[in-house]
Amino acid sequence: MKVVKFVDLYKQYLSIKEEIDDAISAVIADSAYIKGKYVDEFESAFAASYGVDNCIGVGNGTDALYLALRALDIGPGDEVITVANSWVSSAEVICQVGATPIFADIEPDFMNIDVTDIEARITDVTRAIMPVHLYGQPADIERIMELARKYSLPVIEDCAQAHYARLNDKLVGTFGDISTFSFYPSKNLGAYGDGGAVLTRDESLARKIRILANHGAEKKHDHRVPGMNSRLDGLQAAVLLVKLKYIDQWTEMRIKHAGIYTEALKDLHAIKLQKVRPGGKHVFHVYSILADDRDLLKAFLENEGIETAIHYPISLPRMEAFRMYVQTDMTPLVATDYQNRYLSLPMYPELTDGEIKYIANSIKEFYQGSKTRENN
Ligand SMILES: *Cc1c(COP(=O)(O)O)cnc(C)c1O
Repeated sequence: MKVVKFVDLYKQYLSIKEEIDDAISAVIADSAYIKGKYVDEFESAFAASYGVDNCIGVGNGTDALYLALRALDIGPGDEVITVANSWVSSAEVICQVGATPIFADIEPDFMNIDVTDIEARITDVTRAIMPVHLYGQPADIERIMELARKYSLPVIEDCAQAHYARLNDKLVGTFGDISTFSFYPSKNLGAYGDGGAVLTRDESLARKIRILANHGAEKKHDHRVPGMNSRLDGLQAAVLLVKLKYIDQWTEMRIKHAGIYTEALKDLHAIKLQKVRPGGKHVFHVYSILADDRDLLKAFLENEGIETAIHYPISLPRMEAFRMYVQTDMTPLVATDYQNRYLSLPMYPELTDGEIKYIANSIKEFYQGSKTRENN
């Protein structure tokens, strides 16, 4: 039986093994584990690739979001609007600073935060909007920025799944006041451990974030605010510097694979495919479909040797941890409906056309098989 993994990080390592091994050896030879030249070099290179002056390497993508909220002085009594379907970090960090998460619904076709619903949820104590470019699809960020200007609200763009995605040729992560990235190993640009970054054009926010991430100190032993310890380490920075050379070509492979899936699955009535926003460059961190009989399909594919995942099985307002923040008369309806139908198919640059066709054919077989059973 063929086995197709959901992600295969080892395959990617083998394709750049020599460069990675050399980069890791160099960090060890220099003992540049914390801060040091590899981190500086990566921060400069990453900032330059976005045309932004300030990049702060941090411990992970969740810390990046938390630090962004802290830098904006968001705390108890404040509300922050984010999206109902996302990784838990989106809601968790808002609670961590003592503020209240408010969940906006998603758009039925693009499956990202719905701008109209953001506006419906703005109150006197709303202090920021935190959209997520989920799956690698650009959120409706131009309209979000218009809304933010109308209400004078800062925007934190969560780009954890959307490295180098674009809307109308502009990189996501360059629209808002602060943008945050994760380099979790399976992210489009992934380290070999935890890592994250914050980008901002605003010098004073950048300085605040550097201080907060460094125990609240700009100079050693001069702790001005209660901060935290969150840093990108040298080994991760060195790995990321190697991978930065390949990210464009890997992104193009993801887009190509998505095209093959879409072509193969578009006529199946049991499946709803995610549309790509007009003018958007979707970088397919995840290829998520909506599938009838999702759990049965998932089990069937598992049996065929195909690993799948769900992004995400429980929407944030439905999670035990955040239920207390949700007004029942304003439940995000699309997000609630979709959580039982999402299915994410294998997606990584090293996937082969043959594997994608095998996956698509297995999905067709599942639905044709069940149709035959119904007819009998
Ligand atoms: C991965 C991810 C994060 C968190 O990143 P970590 O590096 O795992 O802390 C935040 N938001 C979204 C949307 C993510 O996918």
